[in-house]
Amino acid sequence: MTAKNWRALLKGKHQLSLRLFLLLNALSVAFSIASPVFLTQHFTVPVILVLALSLSFLIWQFADKQRLININLVSLLLGILWAWHIVIKNNSLPATDTSFLIIALLTILFIGSISFINNIAAFTVHCLPVTLTVLWLDHGEHWLRMLYSIALPGIGITIQHIIQRRNDKFTHRLMNKLLEEKETLNDLSMIDPLTGLYNRRGFQNQLENVLALGTDNHFVLLLDIDHFKAYNDNYGHSMGDQALVRVSAAIRDAVRSRDIVTRYGGEEFMVLLTSLDTEKALQTAERIRQRVYDLRIPHLFNDEVATNVTISIGLAPLGTAGIDEALSHADKALYRAKHQGRNSILASDSLHAA
Ligand code: GH3
Ligand code: MG
Ligand code: MG
Repeated sequence: MTAKNWRALLKGKHQLSLRLFLLLNALSVAFSIASPVFLTQHFTVPVILVLALSLSFLIWQFADKQRLININLVSLLLGILWAWHIVIKNNSLPATDTSFLIIALLTILFIGSISFINNIAAFTVHCLPVTLTVLWLDHGEHWLRMLYSIALPGIGITIQHIIQRRNDKFTHRLMNKLLEEKETLNDLSMIDPLTGLYNRRGFQNQLENVLALGTDNHFVLLLDIDHFKAYNDNYGHSMGDQALVRVSAAIRDAVRSRDIVTRYGGEEFMVLLTSLDTEKALQTAERIRQRVYDLRIPHLFNDEVATNVTISIGLAPLGTAGIDEALSHADKALYRAKHQGRNSILASDSLHAA
């Protein structure tokens, strides 16, 4: 999927240089017709073909931007047409005029290297027909000049090609790295940043995994820190956050690794205890309550009573009715636990009904 996107991007980049190539070819024809350097035959069949093809391809590309034209084929085709044009024109020039061939060669190399600076294949197939033709027509008389004309852009483009490949590899690696980071961020967004516990999304995800196993006898615990508003008011929000982190760790430590601990809301937690009997579930809830109590985080309700941070817990079985139903039962049990004086555990009526 991503490799495909990558290739599509590269192709898109090359198609842009194709447009430049076609435009330069059309302009080159226009110049050679309007203001020819060598006053002989202005119109040759190949030059008209070059103009017609360049303009048609350009219009075709603009009309349908998604269309990918085979760049190598087009550049080869135009290269052959230019070579043909050079043969015709050279034959109509006096034999004493030797500069035509070198200028023709330079023009082709110039257009080729400007357009295909990043595409060594297209550059080569475009320039090869003209280069061979010019060498052949010249009978090797100016081979050194011609070699010089070819060598310079040739070397330049080869080096550019190597640099470009490195850049592309680097960009490719960067893209893969970014995709990996995105995956990590996706994972992280299932985690509550303060406590490191699952958030609701993470819980949903984990719950699906548990349910997929097809096991039963799961229990839902809803936990809420007692008088936490007063804690914040007394000690400040930052201390409140620290207390939350410690309580979270205590809950996590009190359960098995296969149980799912979630930060359900501000100072509310949810624990899904998986595959255990009622007695074990109640024991685990009690262990959680005790562990939090044992943290002995000082919590001064008022000037007379000094105590520490505690939690209340509501417990309900995860029956066939589903998680929302179980949470609603656990919430009612939690509400009653709060009214009973807090720092306590109550099981929902659905437990006894089950
Ligand atoms: P109760 O025993 O009935 O649960 O009393 P409570 O004060 O804990 O209940 P309440 O729901 O009214 O207050 C919850 C408070 O928890 C409110 C808010 O100040 C605090 N709280 C919620 N989320 C955070 C948090 O992320 N950080 C801090 N420091 N405090 C939070
Ligand atoms: Mg609350
Ligand atoms: Mg509370």
